[in-house]
Amino acid sequence: MALLITKKCINCDMCEPECPNEAISMGDSIYQINTDRCTECVGHYETPTCQKVCPIPNTIISDPAHQENEEQLWDKFVQLHHAHKL
Ligand code: SF4
Ligand code: SF4
Repeated sequence: MALLITKKCINCDMCEPECPNEAISMGDSIYQINTDRCTECVGHYETPTCQKVCPIPNTIISDPAHQENEEQLWDKFVQLHHAHKL
């Protein structure tokens, strides 16, 4: 599933440059994740890198509204990065 940034976010700017899919951007008041671009870092890293760099525990969580299995996340990764090669 895609990940979700909760209201605990302190806008520390750590996660945005680390996302390999450019899924993170500044929203109205806190950072937000574009669910169409978040692969949970599948294809790039073993674990979600935004969660790793976020200094506030449990700020970036799994988005219950956007549940995807491993295969769907891989499909998303391929679409984002290799669509031009197909
Ligand atoms: S889990 Fe990975 S792809 Fe998703 S927003 Fe975080 S850094 Fe980006
Ligand atoms: S790393 Fe965490 S606290 Fe910092 S901007 Fe991203 S979600 Fe917010």
